[in-house]
Amino acid sequence: MDGHSSKQAVRIPSETHKIDPALISNSAWKVLKGLIKAGYSGYLVGGAVRDLLLGRHPKDFDIATDATPEQVRKVFRNSRSIGRRFKIVHVRYGREIIEVATFRASHDNAEHSKDAQSDGGRLVRDNVYGTLDSDVWRRDFTANALYYDGSDQSVVDYVGGLEDVRNKQLRIIGNPETRFQEDPVRMLRAIRFAGKLDFKMDDEFEPLLHSQSALLKDGSPARLFDEMLKLFHGGSALKTFDLLRHYDVFRYFFPGAEQQFKREQDGAFLALVQAALKSTDTRIGQDKPVTPAFLVAIMLWNDVRYFANQGISKKVPPMQSWLNASQRVVSNQSRHLTIPRRFSLAAKEIWILQNKFSSRRGKRALSVLTHARFRAAYDFLCLRYESGERDLAETVTFWTDIQELPESEQLKLLHVKDRRAADRPEEKQHRPRRRRRNKSRRRSG
Ligand code: ATP
Ligand code: MG
Repeated sequence: MDGHSSKQAVRIPSETHKIDPALISNSAWKVLKGLIKAGYSGYLVGGAVRDLLLGRHPKDFDIATDATPEQVRKVFRNSRSIGRRFKIVHVRYGREIIEVATFRASHDNAEHSKDAQSDGGRLVRDNVYGTLDSDVWRRDFTANALYYDGSDQSVVDYVGGLEDVRNKQLRIIGNPETRFQEDPVRMLRAIRFAGKLDFKMDDEFEPLLHSQSALLKDGSPARLFDEMLKLFHGGSALKTFDLLRHYDVFRYFFPGAEQQFKREQDGAFLALVQAALKSTDTRIGQDKPVTPAFLVAIMLWNDVRYFANQGISKKVPPMQSWLNASQRVVSNQSRHLTIPRRFSLAAKEIWILQNKFSSRRGKRALSVLTHARFRAAYDFLCLRYESGERDLAETVTFWTDIQELPESEQLKLLHVKDRRAADRPEEKQHRPRRRRRNKSRRRSG
């Protein structure tokens, strides 16, 4: 990145870049205008500008300004400071949150730049305030380093980003080796933009994805989870997954799954994962909700099934064996990738329901049908069938048909007299002991 501060910025007027201001959300406009009215600068930055140039709807709007976080707080009462890696301000309008960050100094220009790096050249602190022309150099790719000025709707470009967006070219800012060492997650971001936006990776850095990917091994498991969601919930999960495997970095997310892909002859588990990702893409394309729990349930499914069957072959009762296996796999996985508890609990429920789908009468079957996770578990079951588990045909037909029936017919089919029988005995295990006594009695009484 040497010598970059001498580079000249180009200002591209709105007639040339043709971004439609109406595609910028009202909330983002309120923040831009509010900052400018208070005497500060206000720029839309990052992915939003890139997406607007591509004619895509940005998923969120990030804003950069010369106001300090404290000053931003004073301009917007509906705001709060977020003290993550960098201090930024969230301005909230209803459900929409606009992220406002103060320009930062480029770390190699900043004083004490040595302090900001760990021994491996990794960036650990990057919070010295700066100006627009220092802020630009810390960004990862040229396509992500464009600034849309709220005051005159022009785009400020220091790095040839506009042309790169037009050509769908992914170019790294600065020395690729250094930038990947500073933050290995940038390699995953490159894969994400290539997968989702169909950008072509520059020859200057693409080979490094092979040679430097081992840096990801020491990444933060929490950050890896966030990145995983962006990779797989961006609408192009299937393509992104293929890229991750092509660069052999999928194993940093789910090592057990990757081992199975390499080991299996019939490609059955790979087919299941691909089917799941395809269905995720379809749902996102239709604006339907997706849950991380489903993704987690799919990716760890083979491990869980393996350990559950192992227990069963050693005469552990099936349900106990599934519970043990779920527990074991989730806790192993957390060394690589932090799965927030609410998602791992939901994934466990999806797995346990797979086992319970085999009962088709009585209380247990009714508890499946009335389970909060029934829908997700049923979708999971269908994917298993579609991706090759043909012996599930009857089970799938049964659970498909029964959903369409009126309640009285459902109960008849399940040989259950009344619905309250669905009070699920297994669930009690998860309830705190203290509460169990009174509540469960009241419910069943
Ligand atoms: P998305 O469409 O997924 O939101 P994005 O490019 O906006 O993509 P964000 O994670 O929202 O990604 O980050 C916003 C901007 O911050 C990026 O466009 C980039 O300029 C900068 N940025 C984010 N992460 C990094 C990083 N790891 N290294 C350097 N710059 C980054
Ligand atoms: Mg963004």
